[in-house]
Amino acid sequence: LANRAFHPEDSVVDVSGVKVGSGNMAFIAGPCSVETFDQVLEIAKAAKASGANLLRGGAFKPRTSPYSFQGLGLEGLDILYKVKEEVGLPIVTELMSAEYLDIFEEKVDLIQIGARNMQNFDLLKQLGKVKRPILLKRGLNATYEEWIMSAEYIMASGNENVILCERGIRTFESYTRNTLDLQSIPVLKKLTHLPVVIDPSHAGGKWWLVDSMAKAAVAAGADGLMIEVHNDPENALCDGAQSLKPEKFDKLMKELTAIANAV
Ligand code: PEP
Ligand code: MN
Repeated sequence: LANRAFHPEDSVVDVSGVKVGSGNMAFIAGPCSVETFDQVLEIAKAAKASGANLLRGGAFKPRTSPYSFQGLGLEGLDILYKVKEEVGLPIVTELMSAEYLDIFEEKVDLIQIGARNMQNFDLLKQLGKVKRPILLKRGLNATYEEWIMSAEYIMASGNENVILCERGIRTFESYTRNTLDLQSIPVLKKLTHLPVVIDPSHAGGKWWLVDSMAKAAVAAGADGLMIEVHNDPENALCDGAQSLKPEKFDKLMKELTAIANAV
C-alpha cells in the first residue's frame, strides 16, 4: 500500500486541516516534554508566530532510564489540548500503549509512534482502527525496508494516513546523538508515496546542529521538519541540549522559507 509503483502521485496527509506532502510542508515545533501549561502556551504562541503549523509535546515519554522524568501522562495530554484550543495549532504527541488509543483518537491530531515502538507490531495493528493520521518515526537501527513494512502494518490494518519521520540512526559515531540519514528522503520518495519529515533535534542531539540539518533537509525535498523548541532549555526536563530557544527557531524559519521556495 505504501509502494510508489502502485500509487505514482505523492500522498497528501490531512492533519486536522494542515496538509502535509506534495509540496505542503509540516513545521512541527514544541518542547520535548509537556512540563506545565504556561510553558507549552508560551512556546506554542512563539512557534506559531514564527510559522510552525503543528505543535509537538511529549506527555508519555519513552526514557532510557526508569529514573528519568517519564512525562505527565494524561495530565500532559490535557495541557496540550488546552493549548491547542487557545492557540489553534493541531497537536502531535507520542502514543506508547494501545491502552490510551481512544483518548488519543479523541484529542490528538497526529499520533506519533516513536523510534522505540516502530516495530511494536501489535500497537501498529491497533492504529488501523483510528482515523487520525500517524507520524511513524524510524527505529534506532531500522533499515528502509523494515521502516516501510511498519508503515505497511498500519496501512494494511485500515489507516493509510501515514507520515514517515527520519530522526537519525545509531552508527559507530558517538559525538552526535545519532547520525541523520538525509538519503532517506530521496530513497523513501522513490520507494513510497508517503510524506517524509525530518527531525534534526533527535538526530544530532545538539541545538547548534539543528539549523544546518534543517536547511539541508528542506533543500533535499523533505515534506517537513520536527524541531524541539523550549523557552528555557537549560532547565528543560528532557532534551534541553538539543532544543532551540524561540528566537533561534524564528530566525531558522525565516531562512527556511527562502530555501523552501527555491526547491
Ligand atoms: C520524541 O520525538 O519525543 C522522541 C522520543 O523521539 P524518538 O522516538 O525519535 O526518539
Ligand atoms: Mn525529545
